[in-house]
Amino acid sequence: MDTQQDFRSGFACFVGRPNVGKSTLMNALVGSKVAITSNRPQTTRRAIRGIVHRPGSQLVIVDTPGLHRPRTLLGERLDSLVRNTLTEVDVIGFCVPADEKTGDGDRYIARELAQVKNTPVVAIVTKADKVTPQALAEQLMAVDALGSWSDIVPVSALGGIGKTGDTPYQLDVVTDLLVKHLPEGPPLYPEGDLTDEPEQILAAEFIREAALEGVEQEVPHSIAVVVDEMNLREGREDLTDIYAHVFVERPSQKAILIGRKGERLRTVGTRARQQIEALIGTKVYLNLQVSVAKDWQRNPKQLRRLGFYD
Ligand code: GDP
Ligand code: MG
Repeated sequence: MDTQQDFRSGFACFVGRPNVGKSTLMNALVGSKVAITSNRPQTTRRAIRGIVHRPGSQLVIVDTPGLHRPRTLLGERLDSLVRNTLTEVDVIGFCVPADEKTGDGDRYIARELAQVKNTPVVAIVTKADKVTPQALAEQLMAVDALGSWSDIVPVSALGGIGKTGDTPYQLDVVTDLLVKHLPEGPPLYPEGDLTDEPEQILAAEFIREAALEGVEQEVPHSIAVVVDEMNLREGREDLTDIYAHVFVERPSQKAILIGRKGERLRTVGTRARQQIEALIGTKVYLNLQVSVAKDWQRNPKQLRRLGFYD
């Protein structure tokens, strides 16, 4: 008898406006930080995969950038990345936050989802911990009215309990509702793998997350990070050397990032280094260079160099 017979495996992706908690939810379901998060726009720029292992199933979640009407070439690339992902998964999680009224942005995405035939959509009302049970009930109805969903579920990525302490918003319920749409099949990744993202990419993402912290206005959009080299130091098992470039679009942004006497860049470096050390389990020497790549968001050649392919 085939022992794999009852095993389910496949892909889900989360879509929603920027900042609704898609990456945070993916990390919570995976149980480990594989995607960076922040309250800045355009934090997620890659379709990062997180893997949820359970007895009897393996769910691969693809975290996508927020979907909105694009304004730059980068925005267009990110949007087509999301659209391509939508057609390739077994189930879609449409994320709408509990604490913001549904609006044009959500309706725009609901219309896009209506075009994706044959893929079930689970509506997920995120950040349920931020509202009262009454407000949550109203939001569930508002989200229900946006389209036809195979299920609709509230969740908080931050911990189980709702504002009044009586309603548990369990992450497991979300996993269950996604897993039931997966086809039967063997595991796609080895037991214990939490992501298929190369360490070099995750390191670049952790650096970008640290660089986003505390910068305002247009600067977050303008930051891109490339890890040029990442190797164990010769003759050492316990120390990794990382050489990375942080790109910004203008000299004024470079000055902001570096800070007075380089103070800000040192803070960014320290924070990123600690995250990377936790990820790879060795000490890290991190060399960060800040460079200006003029208008890279609008420049096809620069976009390619930074890893955003057409
Ligand atoms: P994304 O752009 O949809 O991927 O959103 P992120 O996952 O980056 O989260 C955006 C912001 O919302 C971050 O500041 C998160 O800490 C916050 N957030 C995400 N999920 C929750 C949640 O369940 N509860 C609360 N209170 N905040 C959340
Ligand atoms: Mg995100």
